[in-house]
Formats: sequence, structure tokens, C-alpha cells
Amino acid sequence: MLDTTRTTGDLQALDGAHHVHSFTDPALITGGKTRVVVRGEGCQIWDSDGRRFLDGMAGLWCVNIGYGRQELVDAAARQMTELPFYSNHFQSTTPAMTELAHKLSQLTPDGLDHFLFTSSGSEANDTIVRMVRYFWKLQGKDTKRTFISRTMAYHGSTLAAVSLCGMPHMHAMDGGTLPGFAHIQHPHWYMFGGELTKEEFGLQAAQALERKILELGPENVAAFIGEPVQGAGGVIDPPSTYWPEIQRICRKYDVLLIADEVICGFGRTGEWFGAQTYGVTPDLMTLAKGLSSGYLPIAAVAMNKRVFETIGAGGLLAHGYTYSGHPVACAVALANIDIIEREGLVDRVRNDIGPYLHQALAQFEQHPVVGEVRGIGTLAALQLVKGKDTREIFTVEDGAGVFCREASYNQGLIVRAVGQSIVLSPSLVITHAEIDEIIVKLKRALDETARHFGL
Ligand code: PMP
Repeated sequence: MLDTTRTTGDLQALDGAHHVHSFTDPALITGGKTRVVVRGEGCQIWDSDGRRFLDGMAGLWCVNIGYGRQELVDAAARQMTELPFYSNHFQSTTPAMTELAHKLSQLTPDGLDHFLFTSSGSEANDTIVRMVRYFWKLQGKDTKRTFISRTMAYHGSTLAAVSLCGMPHMHAMDGGTLPGFAHIQHPHWYMFGGELTKEEFGLQAAQALERKILELGPENVAAFIGEPVQGAGGVIDPPSTYWPEIQRICRKYDVLLIADEVICGFGRTGEWFGAQTYGVTPDLMTLAKGLSSGYLPIAAVAMNKRVFETIGAGGLLAHGYTYSGHPVACAVALANIDIIEREGLVDRVRNDIGPYLHQALAQFEQHPVVGEVRGIGTLAALQLVKGKDTREIFTVEDGAGVFCREASYNQGLIVRAVGQSIVLSPSLVITHAEIDEIIVKLKRALDETARHFGL
């Protein structure tokens, strides 16, 4: 049982002794600096010393409906009582998994009506690599095996998913990517746009895909994968011209288009899915995070008819996980989707809090340490710069991102530093008053950063 009598110090000591953390320098943990988070309500969390934080990241971009929703607890308890586990292997199902697949078919863009469940976004993207290669094999095009992704993309930490990522430090850790993965530059206008308008740049950035397909040979290219808005790469929201051009190129060369909706899905961009916001219809989508608002681990691969009917005719699908479609996670996801629908959270992002957040953040365009304010819906980033006029970005050694993030924590606001950008991804239930609080706290953190770097 959980020992509820331990002090913060006890927990930090035990954690340092035994727990290997994700995306953390272990040296920081053994030094007893672990933050122990104990409770959440709405957009707020509390640490073990009773300190309150406004969670500007909704956990890890995932707690779309906010913390503390009893309905999800009740759904989990009901399902656990009735049937805590059964698998979907060997022709079995449970009502919860069937119902969730059906529900998702109503929400996802037209044609994406088939769902394969996994427990994480990484597993879902690894699954996509297998499914897409299998699809092309069944189509008699065995050589179509290479995936094209983008620099600064994040698609997960399992082997194939990390190869889809475009994060150099992740590849450097264990010796690069698997064979069969290529990358093009991410469409960050502020960084690479030069004198081009955003729209001109969007077209040019998308056309890098055509060049890459021709370089590799269309007969070798299986798919292009991208997040509608790159999240962990720094909230890169592409120009409006970008995605339609990507879709045109994919169709021209018969390259499957995959939208990784792990962050963008379930309302964050002001539509149910980012693909809808940017006007594209992918062949496959990756769903996770907002699917259950992070209350339990569940993810899914959505496939269109062409993909499903091809692999459906291939005989035994030799793929699956013990926890594919875990009934408790499915029941929680259904309760989560109910809340998003009932409370109109997608419209709320599009018409209310999205515009409110971005209007408020726009004031930082004048701030001496901010070069660009970007984002859409409840996704936002502030690009920290040394030189506003020259667009000179801080270096990793400068550490401005981490400095500003820590200054923000000290104000009781959780944001994330991605390179030299500060990113935000609050829950879809955030109030105007909480957005006002974000702005006040962020301003203090930015002022402190500017002072520290002599700007
Ligand atoms: N794709 C995207 C776009 C993500 O942001 C993430 C996680 N941040 C993943 C995939 C991987 O998901 P998971 O951490 O659930 O494996």
C-alpha cells in the first residue's frame, strides 16, 4: 500500500535511490531536487509541501478536461468492478472497447473509421510503421518502406518512434535512427523564413517534401508523418499554405499521409483534430493524451478505408499488445469524450479561451526578450531572443529557456522550455482569470530573464 506518512524529504531520498526519470538528468534527482506533486484540481496542482502551481502545461499537454473529474473516477471504478481486464486478441472484445472505436469513428475526419488501440503515443507510432509497411507489401509495392518526418518532430521514445523524431539529442544518445527514416526541415517561419511572407514560406517548406521524395525515389517512400502543430519541438504552427501543399504532394506520389494528433487531438487547436484545423485529410492518425485526458494510458491508430481494407484482407494480423483496448482505459476515455462534448470544450477553445489567450500573449511581442509569439488554440510559444531586430536566438549555452522556466516556477506557474522557447498548453477548461494569472506571472519571469541577460 502507498505509505501516506512519508515526508517530502523521505520521498525525495527514496526517489533518488530507486527511480529513473524520463527526460531528466539523473544527477538532478540524486541531489534531492525532485518535485513531489500530490494533488490536482481544475488547472491547479499542489506539491507535497502544500505549494500551489498553475499548470500551464496540463501535465504533459494531456489533461484536456482538467484535474479532479469524478465522472472519470466513477467510470473507472464501475469498469474495474465489472471487468478489470480482458484483451482484444483472438476475436474477443469488451463493450468499452467496441463503444470507444465506434465513438471515435464519429469524431475523426471522414473516412478514418478503423481504430487499433495501444497504451501510448509511442506504441501507436511504432504500430503505424509496421502497419504502413504491411499495407504497401500487400499492395505489391514492397520497396515503399521509408518514412519521411521533420526536424524537431517528436513522435515518441520507442525504437521506430524515436527514428521518426527529428530531435538530434535523442538520436545522439544511442547511436542514430533505424534505417528507412528521413527528415525534412520543420516549417518555422521566424527561424527560416527570411524575407518570405508566411504563406510563401509555407509553400516552400512543404516543397522540401517533394524534393526528398524524388531524392529517395517515390517507389521507396511509404509515408510522411507530421504533427499538425509541432508540440514538443516548440509549438511550431505552420503557415496556412503548408498542409494543403503537403497533402497535394503525398497524393501525387502515392505516399500515405499520417497526422500525429497526440497533442493536437481532442480540441486543442479549436477543432476535434488538428488536421481539420489545417484542412487536410490524413490516411492515418495517431491519437493519445487528450483521448483520456491522461487519466489512464490509452492511445489509438486511426486508419482510413483504403489502409484498413488492404490489411484486413491480409489474413492474421500478427500484431497487438496485452493492453490494446484495456477496458478500464476505454471506459475512462468514453467518459472524457462525454465531458468534452457536453461542455462544448472544442468550441470553447476556438471561440473563447483560444482567442483570449493569444490576445493576452500578444503583448509580449513588445517585450525585449521575446522575438515571436506563436501558436493556436490552447497551444502557445514565446521565442526568446538576444536580438529582436536581428532575430538572434539564444544558444543552448546561454540557457535562457531554462532560466525563464525556473523563474516562472518560482512564480508558481508551470511552463516548459523547449530549446529557447517557452511553451504553454493549458487545459481546455482554463478560465479567463487563470489566463490573466498566467500573463502576470509570465511577465515577471520574462522581466527577470531580460534583466539577467542584460536586455
Ligand atoms: N507524438 C507526439 C506528437 C507527442 O507529443 C508524444 C508525447 N509527447 C508522443 C507521440 C509519444 O506519446 P507517449 O509519450 O504517450 O508515448
